[in-house]
Amino acid sequence: MSGENEKILAKQRLTEFLETKKMRKTPERFKILDVIYSQSGFFDAESLKKNLDLDYPVSLATIYNALELFLQCNLIIRHTFGLRVKYEKTPVGSSHYYQICMQCGNYKSFTDLKLKKSISLRTFSAFNITNHSLYFYGICKKCGQKNKKQNR
Ligand SMILES: [Zn+2]
Repeated sequence: MSGENEKILAKQRLTEFLETKKMRKTPERFKILDVIYSQSGFFDAESLKKNLDLDYPVSLATIYNALELFLQCNLIIRHTFGLRVKYEKTPVGSSHYYQICMQCGNYKSFTDLKLKKSISLRTFSAFNITNHSLYFYGICKKCGQKNKKQNR
């Protein structure tokens, strides 16, 4: 799916959600969604604010408010990597894997077709899987080397 298409669908979903819940369709909410769907990768409220400040400054409170809303309509997902909270556009039909260092909190996402294939063999009788995600916790190479040095 192209980025533009994805963005249009996201806006539609937000519009429907706001109408159903009888909430206001404020331009801020749509601008924030637009910025989120124009980027890729992880983000948080602060990085979002930095992006918005260039041409459409909004308060952090407004951003947090919008993020809560987008979580409710499943437009974004929230990750907790150690103590850090990061958000990401809801992956469409794909499966994502994450590595998180328990020591420094660094994280990265990756894809693994072999793993994806073997997990997709798992089926449930009363549950239809659309996608999945998996978190691997451990110690990154950098921290591992640091620990080795300290133990010498
Ligand atoms: Zn680390």
